[in-house]
Amino acid sequence: MYQVFIVMILAIMIKAKDLIHILAPNLAQNTRMHYPEVATFDLDYTIWPCYCDSHLNPPLKPIKSSNGEVRTVVDASGYQVTIYDDVYRILSDLKKNGTKLISASRTWAPDIAKQMLKTYKLNYEGEIVSLGSMFDAMEWGERSKVGHIRDALKKIYGDTDLKKRQICLFDDEGRNKEVERQGVTFVYVTDPERGVTWKLYQDYLKSLN
Ligand SMILES: [Mg+2]
Repeated sequence: MYQVFIVMILAIMIKAKDLIHILAPNLAQNTRMHYPEVATFDLDYTIWPCYCDSHLNPPLKPIKSSNGEVRTVVDASGYQVTIYDDVYRILSDLKKNGTKLISASRTWAPDIAKQMLKTYKLNYEGEIVSLGSMFDAMEWGERSKVGHIRDALKKIYGDTDLKKRQICLFDDEGRNKEVERQGVTFVYVTDPERGVTWKLYQDYLKSLN
């Protein structure tokens, strides 16, 4: 008898959950997911599969897709670099949900990286925009990622307090895990074939909720 009772309770709970999604999808979305205040992205082998300072000879040219986006750039010697599959989707999702975006790169060729950021294009909320325009601050140079993030916070908020905000760093270099000492969540990008993936990103979001 009690099994029937449990099944009935479960049925009522499932119906109530469906009802929330039907009546207030935005509310359901918001109650489901919590987003970080700031998300930081390394560039080489995190969002694109190359080292800007050793693989590429400028000038760079875009290869435009039929939808107006640019996912591949080609350098002067014909070498093509295609941005990792899920990058545009991840950045768009974060931005739409109010997260500030930072790029943090130690490349010795920031000029080439900046050209890449200008040349890649994505459709963000119905408009074709450059990849670079998605970021609120871009940081460069051979120093710790903690320094990168601090300088970016200074530009965005006018202070450098890492610990008072929920911040994450997506990065393919294990040594950058040191950011965790400052309260930043390190999300390790371990697959050089796929870079930062939707799954990795979702797993991180789930850890916040
Ligand atoms: Mg890297």
